[in-house]
Amino acid sequence: MSTHLFDLVTERRGQQLVNGTALVGRLLRSALDVGVEIRVSTAASALVTDDTGAVTGVRLRGPVGAYTVTARRGVVLATGGFTRDLDRRKALFPRTPTGREHWTLTPPTTTGDGVSLGESVGGRLDRTVASPVAYCPVSLVRYRNGKEGVFPHIMDRAKPGVIGVLADGHRFVNEALGYHDYTLAMLEQVPDGQEVCSWLIADANYMRHYPLGMAKPFPIPIRPYLRSGYLTRGATIRDLAAKIGVDPDGLDKTVRAFNEHARVGEDPDFGRGSTLFNVRSGDADNPWPNASLAPLEKGPFYAVKVVPGSFGTFAGLVTDADSQVLDASDTPIGGLYAVGVDQSSVMGGHYPSGGINLGPAMTFGFRAGRRLASTTGISR
Ligand SMILES: Cc1cc2nc3c(=O)[nH]c(=O)nc-3n(C[C@H](O)[C@H](O)[C@H](O)COP(=O)(O)OP(=O)(O)OC[C@H]3O[C@@H](n4cnc5c(N)ncnc54)[C@H](O)[C@@H]3O)c2cc1C
Repeated sequence: MSTHLFDLVTERRGQQLVNGTALVGRLLRSALDVGVEIRVSTAASALVTDDTGAVTGVRLRGPVGAYTVTARRGVVLATGGFTRDLDRRKALFPRTPTGREHWTLTPPTTTGDGVSLGESVGGRLDRTVASPVAYCPVSLVRYRNGKEGVFPHIMDRAKPGVIGVLADGHRFVNEALGYHDYTLAMLEQVPDGQEVCSWLIADANYMRHYPLGMAKPFPIPIRPYLRSGYLTRGATIRDLAAKIGVDPDGLDKTVRAFNEHARVGEDPDFGRGSTLFNVRSGDADNPWPNASLAPLEKGPFYAVKVVPGSFGTFAGLVTDADSQVLDASDTPIGGLYAVGVDQSSVMGGHYPSGGINLGPAMTFGFRAGRRLASTTGISR
């Protein structure tokens, strides 16, 4: 702890890199060691092509103004997809009529520049993927400094003692499925004309042991979240339902039915707790028979509203297996590559497991790099 605090004081962040930061830190170290020059705060604004249509360079805009960089072997697009592009969201995301009905977790720079650059030279966005985006249910947070944030519901949904319901008070999905599946179900099940959202409902036992979105378990106080309106509390299930605008009869009935089966470790409606994935995401120390199920019986009861959010786009530029961007006739565009979420997902818009963004990003980044290393020039 003292080393960490020292790092915070001297470097403004921890210097012990683990997981993703370790991976990126090592990559940066290796790049610097072999003489790669990194230009920060510099945006690619256009691709340069020769008279055959092959990409031979890129126009950049940065602190020193605009200039062109000529590529010897190729240009690799890796600008992070288009989850922040309202027009593309409106056109491609379901139930997003103005583009604003989506709360992404991605950085502000993910505005679709790579896809637009690829399209400008004949590349095409893959519209055949099952889902254009990797979804995650999120709740909207207002921090003490007035800023707004988006919090991903990854840890809480499968824990025993919480359920997800729609405005009619009914459950609509196995809450212990992955975040993508939970959000897809929300988009499918909320009736047309209603706001796409759901509420996670938990009892006092749950709040003692597990997080509910931003709210941490005992002994971390939840008062700030109640004060800000992030969490709602009700003495009874009906009281809670009335406060959050959910049908009290529907919720009461749902909780009673859920509790009856949860006590014996079953969920006949959605099969929650019936797969290893569900069980592993629950709690092995849960005293009830199923690691993912517990009755909601001890008041007060709590709710947090969740809405559709995302980790990034699945729809990207169509490429071949070496990440070369393909044109309308499936021919590689000379000198142009796309990786990461600028490249259409090899998963076809499905979310079989965590890691399905970073795994392919590393794999196809590696393949692009290997191909680039083996070429001597750019040709159509
Ligand atoms: C909260 C969260 C959790 C996640 N967890 C996981 C996980 O557990 N497993 C997993 O596989 N995936 C996860 N993901 C998804 C994964 O992190 C992303 O898919 C991945 O980081 C995308 O990498 P990328 O290189 O394509 O884009 P990014 O990492 O977004 O990098 C793109 C870069 O391009 C820059 N840029 C944008 N426009 C331009 C321009 N015109 N010119 C120059 N530069 C530009 C941006 O500033 C940015 O630095 C998570 C995402 C989030 C948000």
